[in-house]
Formats: sequence, C-alpha cells, structure tokens
Amino acid sequence: MAVGFRLGSLVSRSFRNALSGMSTAPSRGITSVIDPSIGLSEEQQEFQKVAFDFASKEMAPNMALWDEKEIFPVETMKKAAQLGFGGIYTRPDVGGSGLSRLDTSIIFEALSTGCVSTTAYMSIHNMCVWMIDTFGNDEQRHRFCPSLCSMEKFASYCLTEPGSGSDAASLLTSAKRDGDRYILNGSKAFISGGGDTDVYVVMCRTGGSGSRGISCLVVEKGTPGLSFGKKEKKVGWNSQPTRAVIFEDCVVPVTNRLGEEGQGFGIAMKGLNGGRINIASCSLGAAHASVLLSRDHLVVRKQFGEPLANNQYLQFRLAEMATQLVTARLIVRHAAQALQEEHSNAATLCAMAKLYATDECFKVCNQALQMHGGYGYLKDYAVQQFVRDIRVHQILEGTNEVMRMIVARNILQG
Ligand SMILES: Cc1cc2nc3c(=O)[nH]c(=O)nc-3n(C[C@H](O)[C@H](O)[C@H](O)COP(=O)(O)OP(=O)(O)OC[C@H]3O[C@@H](n4cnc5c(N)ncnc54)[C@H](O)[C@@H]3O)c2cc1C
Repeated sequence: MAVGFRLGSLVSRSFRNALSGMSTAPSRGITSVIDPSIGLSEEQQEFQKVAFDFASKEMAPNMALWDEKEIFPVETMKKAAQLGFGGIYTRPDVGGSGLSRLDTSIIFEALSTGCVSTTAYMSIHNMCVWMIDTFGNDEQRHRFCPSLCSMEKFASYCLTEPGSGSDAASLLTSAKRDGDRYILNGSKAFISGGGDTDVYVVMCRTGGSGSRGISCLVVEKGTPGLSFGKKEKKVGWNSQPTRAVIFEDCVVPVTNRLGEEGQGFGIAMKGLNGGRINIASCSLGAAHASVLLSRDHLVVRKQFGEPLANNQYLQFRLAEMATQLVTARLIVRHAAQALQEEHSNAATLCAMAKLYATDECFKVCNQALQMHGGYGYLKDYAVQQFVRDIRVHQILEGTNEVMRMIVARNILQG
C-alpha cells in the first residue's frame, strides 16, 4: 500500500467511515457486539444518537485542528449546551437537563468519540455545575447555574496544589474570615480551563489541618487578587487550557461559600464520584472509536498479499480489544447506577470503574495504534490522538494508584 495516499484518503476515509457509522448508531450504525446502545431504553438511545451526531458533525472534523492549534472550542461547547449537555445532571429549575448518572455516562461516551479532550473539559464543567446545584443554597443555585448550564460561562474545579496532589486533604490555600468576606492566599496547580473560565470552585482551608478544615468557595473571574499561571504544554488534552490559579489577598464574599465551613472536602469528593464515571466514560468513547478505526484499517491494509484482517493474531487482538471495551462499559454503567441509587458502596464502585475503564481503554487505544503500524504514529491518523488524550485519565481525578487505595480500604474494612 502506497504511503502517498494516506493524506485525505485512508486517514479521512477510515476515520470518517468509523464516525459516520457511529453517528447513526444505534439503528443504522454499529450492529456488532460493541454497539453501545445494547440494553438502553428508547429514550436513552435517542439522546445517545443526538450525542453521536453532534460528535461526528461538530467535533470529529475539528478534533485534530483543536489539538494542533490548542483551540478551546467555546462556540462548539455552547452549541452542545443547547442540546442540554452543559448541565446534564443538574436540576431543571436552574437550567439543567435533570438526567441520571447513567444517562450522563452514555452522553459523554458518545461525545468523546468526536473529541476526548473537549468532552473531558465538558465533564469537569458539568461536575462543577452539579456541585453548585447540590451544595449551594437557592440564591447561589439561581445566581450561578443558569449561565453555566447554557455555557455562556465556564467552570473550573480547583483542588490540586503544587504540594498537594494525591494527598488532597493536605492542601494549604488559606481562606481567612474577615467579617462577611474571606481573604484567599495560595495557589492551585493543573486547573483545567484555568484562565479561560469564569467560575472557580475552590477548595481552601478555613480551619485546622486535615480534611475537616477545608471549605468550598466559588470565586469569579475578575475578582481582585485572582490571577493565572502560564498555559501548560501537554501531551494531550490540548483543546483545553491548563493553568495554575493563584490567589493573592483575593477577597471573596462569604455568600459564595457552598455548604458550611469544614464541608468542603466532602463536597469535593462527592463531585469526584461522578467525575470519575464521566472521565471513565470519555475513555470508553476513545476505545470505541479506536476499535472501529482498527477494524477499518485491518480490512483495508494489505501485507503479505492479503488484508491484515485475515491474520488470526490480529483478529484475536481485535476480539480482545472489543471484550475490554464492553467489560469496561459494563462496570462504568454499573457504578453510574449505584451512584444514582446512592448505594453505600457507590464511591468505591466509582473508583473501581475509573481504575478499570481508564486502564483497559488506554490498552485498547494503544493496541489500536500498534495495529496501524507506522501510520498509527502519524498525526494524520486519529488513533494517536485518542492514545494521547486518554493517557491522562489514569492520572487525574485521583490517580489509579489512589483508586486502588480506595478499593482496598473498602474491602479490608468491609
Ligand atoms: C492535564 C491535567 C489536568 C488536571 N486538571 C485538574 C483540575 O481541573 N483540577 C484539579 O484540582 N486537579 C487537576 N489535575 C491534577 C490531578 O488531579 C493530579 O495531577 C493528580 O491528582 C495527581 O497528583 P500529583 O500530580 O501531585 O501526583 P502525586 O500525588 O505527586 O503522585 C505521583 C505518583 O505517586 C503515586 N502515589 C502518590 N501517593 C501514593 C501512595 N500513597 N501509594 C501509591 N502511590 C502513590 C501517584 O499515584 C502518582 O503515580 C490535572 C492534572 C493534569 C495532568
């Protein structure tokens, strides 16, 4: 097969074929065992189709460009918000869609087939809106949520600090009470959307050491004393900026505190339970797209006088990839259901799902790249972007080592 035909030929054709197949899922598209609509209600299949269509028409054609030029696609996300994807599991009275955690997972899986990085940012935004909706009082809910659900405004989640990553409860950013306001000092590291977003949900210390001394404040862009670090250069997730968020005598009204003093760490962790399902769902979408890209490549590419698809070793690997994808999807949907039902083990199931799905889906995407041979290493081919974009899902929203700690603790204490 001549290398010369890769540009605008195999690349775009196989990728377009894969995504156009997905865009019509489930009715006319994927009929194989990896069909993500298996077991879903008619209503779920409907909004899944809407999300696949949006991914294939509005996101997939731009995914490489957004990555290369590091474009934060604000207008595309606003269009997604018109479909209800800005506050998917936020309550309708403040502009949310009021859908379940499982519904949310289905939507993020579908959207991320079009661009993992953009969908992953949207998942963080959705998590922040849910936190304000759930832990804010009525005045706060109505003040912040409507413009976030419509994505006129964008949100960031601020927990990690330069000296506090996996040990999040050791955070040092301080918020000293001064009458009806707090004075914030400190800095947050690796904040997704940082600098380009409008609303910062900040975990900070109002009391003594440990998790009980942490509170949650909403800080708005433009507040004096709030500034940002340089835009980080990253391996993937390039369609969203990542910056440090810095507080220097930053004055925030007490009326911006979510919940009571000392409840911040619990609020942060509850946000992350859903966040972990959402990030795992973004990995599912990448793995899904990568299996389809591999299928198309194996059928088209000939070596040793026949299509690679005739090779039994590669067939077996394809079967394993499909099995990894489907099993990962099952555990993610199981955890989403448990979280929806407020099951006592829900937080651990979310950690388990995040660990399993992000690890297995990374293996699937990496194997897909391998199946593409040298072409898989070229940026003309979408598969490398899926690999780069989902690598970080094993690191953030709690590393997969921290997920193992959570699961082991649950079993040992149970
Ligand atoms: C692109 C990107 C976007 C991000 N977005 C956000 C965001 O929007 N908001 C936010 O708050 N944070 C964000 N983060 C931060 C992310 O959540 C942290 O990077 C992550 O929690 C790990 O913290 P750390 O980087 O400090 O690593 P460390 O905690 O220093 O860990 C280093 C390594 O040691 C391991 N380790 C640590 N302790 C243990 C232990 N006890 N047992 C076994 N292994 C251990 C870790 O698993 C990891 O492999 C983002 C990070 C990245 C890269």
